[in-house]
Amino acid sequence: MDHENNIMASACSIRVRGVVQGVGFRPFVYRLARANTLNGWVLNAEEGVEIHLEGAETGLEAFVRDLKAQPPPAASIAEIDVRWAEPVGLSEFTIRTSQRRERPTVRISPDLPVCDDCIRELFDPADQRYWYPYINCTNCGPRYTVVLALPYDRSNTTMKDWQLDDYCAGEYSNPGNRRFHAQPLACTACGPGYYLHPHLHSNDETAGGNEGSIRRAAEMLHAGAILAVKGLGGYHLACDARNPTAVAALRDRKYRKEKPFALMVRDVEMARTLVELSREAETLLTSVARPIVLAPARIKLSGIAPENNELGVMLPYTPLHHLLVAAGAPEIMVMTSANRSSEPIAYEDEDALQRLTGIADSFLIGQRPIARRVDDSVARAGAFGPVVLRRSRGYAPGAMASLPAKRPILALGADLKNTITLVVDGQAFVSQHIGDLDHHQSFRAFDETIHDLASMYEVRFDDLLLVHDLHPQYRSTAHAATLGVRQIGTVQHHRAHVASVLAERGDWTKRIVGVSFDGTGYGDDGSIWGGEIFVGSLQEGFTRVAHLRRAALAGGDAAAHYPVQAAAGFLAEVEGLPDVFAEAFAFPERYRNAMELVRKGVRTFATTSVGRLFDAAASLLGFTREITFEAQAAIWLEQLARCASLTESYPFPFVGGELDFRPLLLAVAQDRLRGRDVREIARSFQHGIAQGLCDALNVISRRHAVDTVVLSGGVFQNELLLEDLKSLLMNGSLRVWTNHAVPPNDGGISLGQAALAAFERFDAPAW
Ligand SMILES: [Zn+2]
Ligand SMILES: [Zn+2]
Repeated sequence: MDHENNIMASACSIRVRGVVQGVGFRPFVYRLARANTLNGWVLNAEEGVEIHLEGAETGLEAFVRDLKAQPPPAASIAEIDVRWAEPVGLSEFTIRTSQRRERPTVRISPDLPVCDDCIRELFDPADQRYWYPYINCTNCGPRYTVVLALPYDRSNTTMKDWQLDDYCAGEYSNPGNRRFHAQPLACTACGPGYYLHPHLHSNDETAGGNEGSIRRAAEMLHAGAILAVKGLGGYHLACDARNPTAVAALRDRKYRKEKPFALMVRDVEMARTLVELSREAETLLTSVARPIVLAPARIKLSGIAPENNELGVMLPYTPLHHLLVAAGAPEIMVMTSANRSSEPIAYEDEDALQRLTGIADSFLIGQRPIARRVDDSVARAGAFGPVVLRRSRGYAPGAMASLPAKRPILALGADLKNTITLVVDGQAFVSQHIGDLDHHQSFRAFDETIHDLASMYEVRFDDLLLVHDLHPQYRSTAHAATLGVRQIGTVQHHRAHVASVLAERGDWTKRIVGVSFDGTGYGDDGSIWGGEIFVGSLQEGFTRVAHLRRAALAGGDAAAHYPVQAAAGFLAEVEGLPDVFAEAFAFPERYRNAMELVRKGVRTFATTSVGRLFDAAASLLGFTREITFEAQAAIWLEQLARCASLTESYPFPFVGGELDFRPLLLAVAQDRLRGRDVREIARSFQHGIAQGLCDALNVISRRHAVDTVVLSGGVFQNELLLEDLKSLLMNGSLRVWTNHAVPPNDGGISLGQAALAAFERFDAPAW
C-alpha cells in the first residue's frame, strides 16, 4: 500500500480563508487527511489555514471534496485555493505550530454555545469534567471573549495562567481527540472554577467547589434572591422571573423602571409556552449565536416587560447555565446585563463586586478572566426576514462585508448604541455593541475597542482612513481628532444608515431609493434630520430627494426624553388643533414651556425626525411622561396599535418633496377628543405613516427610474410599520431591502460609514 502511494504520489497545497481558526478546523483536517491516507501538514497562518498534502490523486480529490462539503459546524469557509505542488516524500500527517508573518487577516471566530457532546459529558458522573462549568472542545466554547491576541493559541488567551494537567494535555495533543488543540481546554482538576461570594457556608465542606456553589446558587434563586452570575462576556443579574417580589426588587435596585428584562428559559419547549415562536424565530433562538429573541408573549409575567406585548427569550449557552438549570434553578429566569441603569455591563470581578454590591444578594464568580465585554445579542424574526437589533455575543467580531478599500478604514459609528467598524484587506469587521458614549464607562470601552481591534489586526493609526459622524457635538467626533490619524472623513448619519444595508448585501453599484426614518441625526444643513429619502448607490453616494416636513424642536436632542416637548413644535404647525390641556389630553406644564420656546424661536432647532413625530402622536394618545429608555414612546404606540384591527389610514400626503404630518396629527387629536379608542387611533396613525411613505416611494422611484427601496434607521425597528409596508408594496413592482446582519438602529452606522468611506463619499460639515 505504502509502496503504491509512493509510486503514484501527487501533492497539493491548499489555503483556506474564512472563519477557520478556533473552530476545530486543524483537527478536522487531520482526521480527513488520515481518512484519505494522505501525509503532509496543516497550520494556522495569518491568512487562514494552510495545508500541504501528499498521496494518491484519488485521496487528494476526496479530501478537497469533503473539506468543502462537511467543514466543522462553526467554521465558515470564504475561499479555498488549491494548487498542485511537488511531493517531498513526507511519511506522516502533522499539525504544525502557528507561523507568524505578514498581517493577520484571518478572522477570530465569535463565541460558541456549549455543544451536545460536552453537555453529555457534563452530566456523566464517570467523566473527568462531570459538573465542570468550563467544559469545552474544539466545536464549542469561548473564543472572542478569551482571546488576547492573534494567532489564536492558548498562550494568547485568558487561559494562559492555567497549566494543563496530564489528562487535559493528553487530549490537547491527540489529533484524533475532539479536544485536540482546544485552546481554552481545562478540567475540574487543572482549570478555573466557580465560587460563591460571599461564602455562605464557610464551615461546610460540601458548599465549596463548583457543584456545591452552583447548587447553592440555584437554591438562592429559588428562594427569591438576586444573583450576579459571571457569564461569557460579562456578568448577568439573575432572578426568578415568576417571582414578582424579586423582579420588582431587581428593577428597584438597578434603577431600571420599565425597560424589558431578558429571560433565559430551560429549553425550546419552555420558550414555546412563553412566546409565540415562529419557525424563523426558533431558528434564531437555536442558532449558534444564541441571541435573545423578541417574540409575541403568550403569558403575562409581572414586571418583566411593562406595557409591551413582546418578551425577549434566550436559551442556556454556557455549561454553567445548563448546570444551574440542572441544579433546579427557576425554569424561567431574568438574565439581564449586570449594570446600574444605562452603564455598560460589568465584566471584571473587582468592578462587578464594587458596582453591583447593593443590587446582587450574592455573586457566582468564575475564575476565568473575560478578555473583553460582550453583551448578549438581540434579534427578531421580522416581516422582511431576521433582523439583529443588538449585534454582540455570538456575532462579533465576524466579518460582515467585503469592501473595495485600498487601505484600512476605521469607522467610529454614532454616539448612541455605538459600534465601530474596522476594514482590513477589504474585509469589514464590526465590533460588539459598545453602548451610549455619554456614559463614561462606555466611552472608555469605545476607546479600548478601537485599540483592541487595531492591535488585533495590526493596523497602524497613521496608516488609517478614519471616518466619523457629521455631528460636531458627538463625543466620537471629538475623539477622532485625538487618535493621531492623518486622513479623516465625515459621513452624514442617515446616509450611513442606508449604506449599511447595501454594504451587508455587498452591492456597490445598485441605484436605490433609500429611506432613513430615525430618531436623531445631524443633517447637512445643521438641522436635526430623521425623516430622509435619498437616491443613489454606494459608489456614487446618496442625494437627498425628499423628507418629512420640517418642525421646530424645542431643546434639540434633549427633547427625545420628553414626548410632549418634542410634540410642541409639531403641534404648533397644525391648524385647528384641539386644546391639549383639555381633559382628554391632560398635557403637563412642560408642554407649555416648550411651546413658549417654539413661539419665540429660542433654543429650538429645525427637525425632520420621524422618531419625534411618533413622540408627538404618542403624547396625544396619553404618553405624556418622561421616557425611561430610548424610543419608549414609539414602542408604546406600536404596542397600542397592535391591539386594534385596521379600519382606516390617517392622511399623510406627499406634496412637493415633503411628507406632510399636519393632517396626520390633526386626525389623531380630533379622534382622541371624540373619544375614539386610543388603540384604533394608534393603528390608523401607524398605517397612515406606511401609506404616506408608500405613496412617496411610488412617485420617487418612477421619477428616478429605480426599482429597489432600502429601509434603515431606528424607526424601522417598528415591526408593525414593516408589516404594513410589506402588504402595501406587495402588489407593486418595488423590491424592499432591509438590514439583516447589522441593526437598523445606530448600531449599524459604523458599517455604513465604512462603506461610504471605501468609495470616498464624504459629507462636508456645515460648520
Ligand atoms: Zn463541546
Ligand atoms: Zn485538566
